Amino acid sequence: MDVMRREIAICTRMLVDVDILEYSGHISARLPSGDAFLIQQGDDVRSNLDPSRLLVVGLDCEVVEGDGIPPSETPIHAEIYKARPDIRAVAHFHHDPTTMFSMVKGRPLVPVKNHASRWSDGVPVHSDASHISTISQGQELVHTLGESNAALLRGHGEVVVAESVMALFADIVHFVENAQALAHAGLLGVVEPLNTDDMEKFRSTFKREKHARKLWSYYSVTAANKGVISPEWLDE
Ligand SMILES: [Zn+2]
Repeated sequence: MDVMRREIAICTRMLVDVDILEYSGHISARLPSGDAFLIQQGDDVRSNLDPSRLLVVGLDCEVVEGDGIPPSETPIHAEIYKARPDIRAVAHFHHDPTTMFSMVKGRPLVPVKNHASRWSDGVPVHSDASHISTISQGQELVHTLGESNAALLRGHGEVVVAESVMALFADIVHFVENAQALAHAGLLGVVEPLNTDDMEKFRSTFKREKHARKLWSYYSVTAANKGVISPEWLDE
C-alpha cells in the first residue's frame, strides 16, 4: 500500500505543477482487496500532499483507516469503483479549458490528437452541474459515464478513469492536451477529428503501459528536480 500512497501523492503534486489540479479535485486508487480505496483528506493542500495522511475509504464512502474527512465528492470515486471492476484509479478535477467543452452547444470534445483514441467511445457530458456529493448523484454520474473512460461534468469539471495511477496520470495529460488542441484547431478552421479507423490503427501498435511509464518518468524526475516532490520518493 505504501507504493500506492506515494503514487497518489506524486500524481497529485505533479498535476498541480502542470496547472490541472489546484485547491480542489482529487485522485484515488483502489486497494488490491477491491472493496476500498485510498483518497486524500478533503482539506489537505494538493501541492503538499503527504502519502501518510491519505485515508482508506470503503465503497460506502465510510473511512476505514486514517483520521480525517474525505472530500465531499468522494461518491464519484466510490460509485465508479462499484460499477466498474476494470477501474483501479479515478481522477476528478476542474480544468476550465477542458470543462469549456461542456458549455458550448454543438462543440463536443472529439478526438483530434492520436492519444485521444483512449476516448474513442466518446466523452459523455453529465448534465448535473452541482457537486457530486451524494450516493445517488454518484450513481447518476456512473450512468452517464457508462463504459467510457472519461466524462465531462457540465459547468463543473472532469472525471477520468484508468487501470492504474500511472496510466491515469498519462490519460489526464492527454485528455487536457486534446481539449486544448481542439480549441486551438477550431480557431484555425474547420476541425477534422480522428475517425474510427484512425483510432483503431493507433491503438493497434500503441504500448499503453510502456507509454504511461515514460510519461511518469519524465514528469516525476522533472518534479523532483523542481522540488515539487521528494527525490527520495523516486528511489523506492
Ligand atoms: Zn468537483
